[in-house]
Amino acid sequence: MTMQIELYDTTLRDGAQMEGISLSVEDKLKIARKLDELGVHYIEGGWPGSNPKDAEFFVRAQSLNLRHARLAAFGATRRPGGSADGDANLRALLDARTPVVTIVGKANDVHVRDVLETSQEENLAMIADSVRLMKQNARTVFFDAEHFFDGFSSDRDYALRCLRAAASAGADCLVLCDTNGGMTTGQLVEAVRAVKAQFETPLGIHTHNDAELAVANSLAAVGEGVRQVQACVNGYGERCGNANLMSVIANLKLKLGVDVVSDEQLAMLTDVSHYVSEIVNMAPDPYQPYVGTSAFTHKGGLHVAAVLKSDASYQHVRPEAVGNERRMLVSELGGSRAIQQKLREAGIEFELSREEARALQELVNERESKGYQFEGAGASFEMLVRRSRPGYSAPFELEDFWIVERSASSGGGAREMQAEAMAKVRVDGKLLQTAAEGNGPVNALDAAVRKALVEFFPTIYAVKLFDFKVRIIDSAAGTSAAVRVLIESGAGDAFWTTVGASTDIIEASWMALSDSLEYFLMKRAGWTPG
Ligand SMILES: [Zn+2]
Repeated sequence: MTMQIELYDTTLRDGAQMEGISLSVEDKLKIARKLDELGVHYIEGGWPGSNPKDAEFFVRAQSLNLRHARLAAFGATRRPGGSADGDANLRALLDARTPVVTIVGKANDVHVRDVLETSQEENLAMIADSVRLMKQNARTVFFDAEHFFDGFSSDRDYALRCLRAAASAGADCLVLCDTNGGMTTGQLVEAVRAVKAQFETPLGIHTHNDAELAVANSLAAVGEGVRQVQACVNGYGERCGNANLMSVIANLKLKLGVDVVSDEQLAMLTDVSHYVSEIVNMAPDPYQPYVGTSAFTHKGGLHVAAVLKSDASYQHVRPEAVGNERRMLVSELGGSRAIQQKLREAGIEFELSREEARALQELVNERESKGYQFEGAGASFEMLVRRSRPGYSAPFELEDFWIVERSASSGGGAREMQAEAMAKVRVDGKLLQTAAEGNGPVNALDAAVRKALVEFFPTIYAVKLFDFKVRIIDSAAGTSAAVRVLIESGAGDAFWTTVGASTDIIEASWMALSDSLEYFLMKRAGWTPG
């Protein structure tokens, strides 16, 4: 479709209002760069009049060299009774030196009376003066009509006069805001239609997700001829969030056929979603449409069998289109076909007979009932498979270990934890006894075992442990274990994840750690099993 739709990202302003999110200037610059790569047309960097951090962002953003996106600064209309020229906030907005400014103003008679506490006429003058000042300073001006839809319900004529004030002063886009996020699609469409019938100025839509309709309402507005869609990465935002940029992009491109970004940019969607969630320090939502790790994951035996025959049977779009991937869960519901597929995905070459596949599936079920989860721990899954093969013998065995921990005074009332591990490791028929210290019990045990292994496997010190996650397993989940440990390891450019589960945290850690070391020896250090 040749329809031109522009994406306006407000993650750095509205998205940052979400409970639990606090962005540094550095964070914001990183996100802006990523959004530019994604092909977003406008990036709203913040509200320079409201805090010095946002003002600093705009200074540093001058050297961002955005290739695609234009930066926008956000600010409110001038104060009641004042002049636009002498308004400190509008001055700060101009000082941000962005090509685009977005002026937010009231478009709801009730808010004008009760919140702004001024007259309807003065509010119209505030809108017009503020927009005009920005136009005089050669800015592209978007007018965010705050609470427009509620205003349209309460006093339709006045809500439209607010838009008229902005349009007459030269606003380049009138952005209709569902600030409270409570509009149904029917109500919203009716209002957009009424505006569209009266205005030549391009329209925009800004929705919140309080009624879980933000994305649907944005798409409906596009259907009514709205040109600009404002949204936030992963739907971040105050209360229940804003329209989710990921879903907006994917739906526009894949469902409505609007080329809002290129195919290559669309394929970055999952990556951008995870990148930003990393920066804002919010765990990615696995169930998020299009980009979540579960979005194309198949678990039920029937579904798995069907998807293996035909991709489209249980998927509404191709996962690759949005940079995601199809996953088959190794789970009790999967059946033997799934485990065969899982082996292929893991690059494990041997074919299993039906009986072997079934036996392996039972082994997986048994481990899962103990609290293991192989879904995010491919290396442990591979070790489980390999160990189940006839003739496998492990490269090393931990015969025995003991760990001493002590909490010593380090003066001035401070204390320091010290750990020491002793281990008996059998390698190639030879029993080695070693001891090592560490900054914690697992670290000490790791050091002791490597000390024993290094004689036989000199490259063992190449293995680095990057991440160590401990999860308390909910007893309601019906497993006997109390903790699950996930360890992410790497050597050179290879990375792998292993898992252990037990009622004892040290044991669970050791299981994950030994899987990691054994996996490395097999994959990287030239050791051949059996
Ligand atoms: Zn908003």
